[in-house]
Amino acid sequence: MSAGLTTSASGETAHTLILVGLILQGIQVAIVLGIGFLVVLAPGLGGIIFGAAAIGILWIVLVYSFSYRRTEEGDYEGARTPTLVFGILSLLGLGLISGILYLVAYSKLGDAIDETTDVTPPWNPPAPISGMKYCPACGRPSPSSSRYCQSCGARFL
Ligand SMILES: [Zn+2]
Repeated sequence: MSAGLTTSASGETAHTLILVGLILQGIQVAIVLGIGFLVVLAPGLGGIIFGAAAIGILWIVLVYSFSYRRTEEGDYEGARTPTLVFGILSLLGLGLISGILYLVAYSKLGDAIDETTDVTPPWNPPAPISGMKYCPACGRPSPSSSRYCQSCGARFL
């Protein structure tokens, strides 16, 4: 089983955090659009506001596809870096609360990766056999008299 295909509690938390961040920014865009409609009769200002709203919608599509969808699919590794970038950019922009949510989600995604990564036990060397020595390169035994590893050919010191 590889990392990312299993769901984890932290992954679920990250998923929810990103969703709330998206909803908040969606509301912001809706407000900006609403203002745009109100001032649509003032052409210059309306254009600027619709431009801002268009950027906001593009942003939400980006967060949705790179953070939200990937987290939903259990691709925590793939969602993690975009979520960090979205968090920082949101903090720099107007989305303070969303930015914090994304950054918390980013750290939760890190936990989720840990939780879903298979913990493989450290490689255990075989029990020493008398009359054998162990290759420093591959760890396999060879007779004590040999000058080269019988498994990989590395030279013994
Ligand atoms: Zn060897």
